[in-house]
Amino acid sequence: MTTESAPPRMRIVRHPLKYRLLEVTKVDRVTPGTVRVTFAGEALEGFCEQAPTDHVKLCFPEPGAELPVEPVVENDTWMDAPVEPITRDYTIRHYRRAERELDIDMVLHGTGIGSTWAEQAEPGMRLGVFGPRGSEEIDFVHDWYLLAAEETALPALARWIEMLPAGVKVIAFAEVPGADDEQEFRTVTDLDLTWLHRGSAPAGSTDLLERAIRAAELPTGLGFAWIAGEATTLKPIRRHLRGERGLGKEQVDVDGYWKRGVANHDHHEDDHEQA
Ligand SMILES: Cc1cc2nc3c(=O)[nH]c(=O)nc-3n(C[C@H](O)[C@H](O)[C@H](O)COP(=O)(O)OP(=O)(O)OC[C@H]3O[C@@H](n4cnc5c(N)ncnc54)[C@H](O)[C@@H]3O)c2cc1C
Repeated sequence: MTTESAPPRMRIVRHPLKYRLLEVTKVDRVTPGTVRVTFAGEALEGFCEQAPTDHVKLCFPEPGAELPVEPVVENDTWMDAPVEPITRDYTIRHYRRAERELDIDMVLHGTGIGSTWAEQAEPGMRLGVFGPRGSEEIDFVHDWYLLAAEETALPALARWIEMLPAGVKVIAFAEVPGADDEQEFRTVTDLDLTWLHRGSAPAGSTDLLERAIRAAELPTGLGFAWIAGEATTLKPIRRHLRGERGLGKEQVDVDGYWKRGVANHDHHEDDHEQA
């Protein structure tokens, strides 16, 4: 394959690493299981976001404390420190630069410091927002996109379909508990979005996304697949796309956003499997 015809690479665009203490100004239920928390503050000056999967580390207070521990940053690097902040990854759902307002959609899944905080969130509370460290950028030059997500990755899926160019073919699958958990997204793409209902089955326990992707008729031409959700359920999807579908490694981005039974799953853990 010549350089000219090679699929475009994903590039990491680095941003200055910054910690911001922000105040909650609004809390909305987007669906029965997801809370949208709006953070605001002058500290958002210089905040960067540009790619669909851009995310920050929310820094939560220790139980009983009012404010989070501040991460130590030296020379644009997060340093080890005697006391580390409690962090979890969350997608930037919206950033309104002029208003200096940031929306984060947080899934209420029952346990966990992030979910518990979101359940109790109310205006006036403060939280640390660390990052984003960088943006994963790809050129939107593909003929089609395959996107799939469960609730935790719906904010990123929404950003994909809001950012992709007019008229491009997008085949998307979104797994949620039921019809009440579906959301509406604005898009200028040629979007074919299928909602998959898992009913009372626990999150991360079904193969709904895998079966939908296996059965999907994919267009011809150069495609790109982005899939995110529970890490274990995504492994067979990654194998299917790279193996049976024959997509090259530059065409597939499968990201385990959380893992059943694991607190604060490291989503870079499976990076080697993308190769
Ligand atoms: C790049 C990236 C972007 C993300 N964006 C978002 C986002 O925008 N919104 C969002 O809600 N989440 C998002 N996540 C997922 C979120 O970081 C995890 O769900 C995280 O584990 C939540 O922290 P917690 O403190 O609530 O639970 P943890 O303390 O991490 O985990 C406690 C227990 O809950 C389980 N658990 C974690 N998440 C879920 C879940 N969704 N359903 C059922 N059980 C779960 C764990 O397996 C563990 O057993 C993102 C993750 C990544 C890597």
